[in-house]
Amino acid sequence: MKTRAEVVIIGGGILGCGVAYELSRLGLCDVVLLEKNELTAGTTWHSAGHLLLLDDDPAIARINALSLQIYTEFQGTTGEEIGLHQEGSIRLATTPSRLDRLQRLTEKMAALGHPSEMIGLDEIERRFPLINLEGVLGGNWSPREGRVDPSMVTHAWARLARRNGVEIHRQTPVVGLVKEGGHWHVETSSGNVRANHVIVAAGFWTPDILRALGIGIPILPAERQYLVTEEIPELGSLPAELPILRDFDVPLYFRQEGKRLLMGVHEPHTPFCFEKGIPPDFGQELLPPDLDRGSACIEAGILRVPKLGEVGIRKVVCGPTSRTVDFNGLLGPVPGHRNLHLLAGFSAGIGHGAAVTRLLAEWLVAGAPSLDISPLHASRFGDFATAFYIRQMLGEAHTYGSLEVGKERQAGRRARTSPLYHRHRAAGALFTARRGWECASCFPWDLPVQPAEAIERELSVLKTACGLVDRTACSKIEVIGPDAEALLEKVFAASRGLASGAAVRFHRPLLAREAPARVTLARMSKHAFFLVLEPEHGLLALSLLVQQAEDGADVAVRDVSASWATLAIVGPDASKAMESLVSPRTDLQRFDVDRAIDIEVGFASARVLRYRAQREDVWELHMPFDCLVGVDELIRRGDTVADVGFKAFDQLQAGKSAERANDARSLAA
Ligand SMILES: Cc1cc2nc3c(=O)[nH]c(=O)nc-3n(C[C@H](O)[C@H](O)[C@H](O)COP(=O)(O)OP(=O)(O)OC[C@H]3O[C@@H](n4cnc5c(N)ncnc54)[C@H](O)[C@@H]3O)c2cc1C
Repeated sequence: MKTRAEVVIIGGGILGCGVAYELSRLGLCDVVLLEKNELTAGTTWHSAGHLLLLDDDPAIARINALSLQIYTEFQGTTGEEIGLHQEGSIRLATTPSRLDRLQRLTEKMAALGHPSEMIGLDEIERRFPLINLEGVLGGNWSPREGRVDPSMVTHAWARLARRNGVEIHRQTPVVGLVKEGGHWHVETSSGNVRANHVIVAAGFWTPDILRALGIGIPILPAERQYLVTEEIPELGSLPAELPILRDFDVPLYFRQEGKRLLMGVHEPHTPFCFEKGIPPDFGQELLPPDLDRGSACIEAGILRVPKLGEVGIRKVVCGPTSRTVDFNGLLGPVPGHRNLHLLAGFSAGIGHGAAVTRLLAEWLVAGAPSLDISPLHASRFGDFATAFYIRQMLGEAHTYGSLEVGKERQAGRRARTSPLYHRHRAAGALFTARRGWECASCFPWDLPVQPAEAIERELSVLKTACGLVDRTACSKIEVIGPDAEALLEKVFAASRGLASGAAVRFHRPLLAREAPARVTLARMSKHAFFLVLEPEHGLLALSLLVQQAEDGADVAVRDVSASWATLAIVGPDASKAMESLVSPRTDLQRFDVDRAIDIEVGFASARVLRYRAQREDVWELHMPFDCLVGVDELIRRGDTVADVGFKAFDQLQAGKSAERANDARSLAA
């Protein structure tokens, strides 16, 4: 085994082998893949292998489409057999709301160029003759969806990666991972490898591997089951293979497996496994099946496809897999850790597999993925996403189909709160969770005022008087050192020429093709910079900064969000409110917009940024957490400053009134 490599990949499932192949395809062949058991031994070998194309989230739908394209081309161009079937799939609607959702999905996907259509009962029966249509209102027909054989794919990718020069070592468990002198030392039972980059693609084992480094990864292992029937003679005489049949409301799926049917058996709750830790010797085994747990699903299956009740069950497969709270995997740099990348936690690791392995390889080789991967960022959670949080979230929605894009989730709330949370609550705030923070979105204090009206009223306060916005949830990052400017210039191209005490604001994607992030960058002194981002973008910005720091660069990047609370005083009367908080010796008249300064504000030694949101004056005060309540009281003592939620402030910053109706709708949901 090599003792040095540019990239070490931990895990030889579909994702580890996929990224090994994709890296080598892009010319990065100095790669070692380490697998503790046999290739596919984790979740991959017992997967059903379905490929979805449609998704409520357009970014995921694009990833699905890329995967399907790669699988199709791969089989065509390499001649490698990967068991690709494109028998199509039918999504059933048995409730008006599901029918409506499918209709919207169909339209959304058509706009993305993914062909699918709504079909009636006759057409459903024609395509899936074994169905009992009782209770079915209609469905969506998606002709290109299908499946691959996950083991065939994994071995094909491994074969080609090896041919390109990648070393693959089976029966080689990684037992330690240490950062030393800018390199990763990957320790195995048969020697160590020094690597510049490490990709952890170890499925549900991933949190265990990274825990030793003090890194929490929000993945829990859970069981997933399907059953395969005995032969059904009618299946032998069908003119074409049956499409995959899905009912997300049960949830269940059927697909044809030769002359048998395979049915996904879902439980009413997430069946977590390995509660006391993964046994050290757990390898390729399956788990004991438990069909009682899924009996309601089986009954619904028999109702839908009565043949299921007439034939025996040949086998039940129950295997461990990974769960994150939104069923999407974790892709990209581990926040705060240079050259350490995640490719794990995928519930649909086969369906997403071909795309996500290519996108991660592009990220390493070309500096960025070529598609929007925001729903998969490894930085989309944070330390608050503990095992307890994951359990709460999955207690609310434990299957993919039960999540609706844009619908506010109620589980996992108050994971993080500002010191002003209870005051805001008493003031009648409505809250929205943002990266675990419970944020006051608006203050309809005289209910039944609708959120939209409250936001409108608060927007008017910001434009005509003075509003106080708690922005404690926003992310704050310090970049300090002689090489800070060069690093910031590389990542944001915005720091050059910025004078000490000056601030600049910009609105642009952190990664190409993603939605723009709003960034405030202030230069506090020659070598010290301060960044403020919305909560959704902070960890990604941190990841990019840490990732792009040159070897040996004299720069420290620190997430200081947990040390600084933030209030924004906004509006035409904001300067007056500020004057009452600072020493008479502080001449605020000289403190112009787009400036940053460290001064005393009330009880706090604060960092103050002044900027404009559209035309309105904003004084953003960053202060130690323990000063927030006192400063908040001081600001409000004259009754001339009103509480404003983040929605109105967001709209002020965006300058768009068209967003209002949508915001109000999602708040009301
Ligand atoms: C019953 C079932 C049905 C499924 N159906 C579908 C489906 O229809 N469509 C779909 O897209 N997905 C499906 N999935 C999920 C899909 O199978 C997974 O998302 C995918 O296999 C994950 O692949 P992976 O490479 O991330 O993980 P794994 O296949 O688990 O690979 C991880 C590898 O890491 C190795 N490893 C762990 N620790 C170490 C270590 N310390 N050192 C070295 N190696 C290590 C393991 O041995 C393992 O081989 C299904 C899963 C199950 C259980």
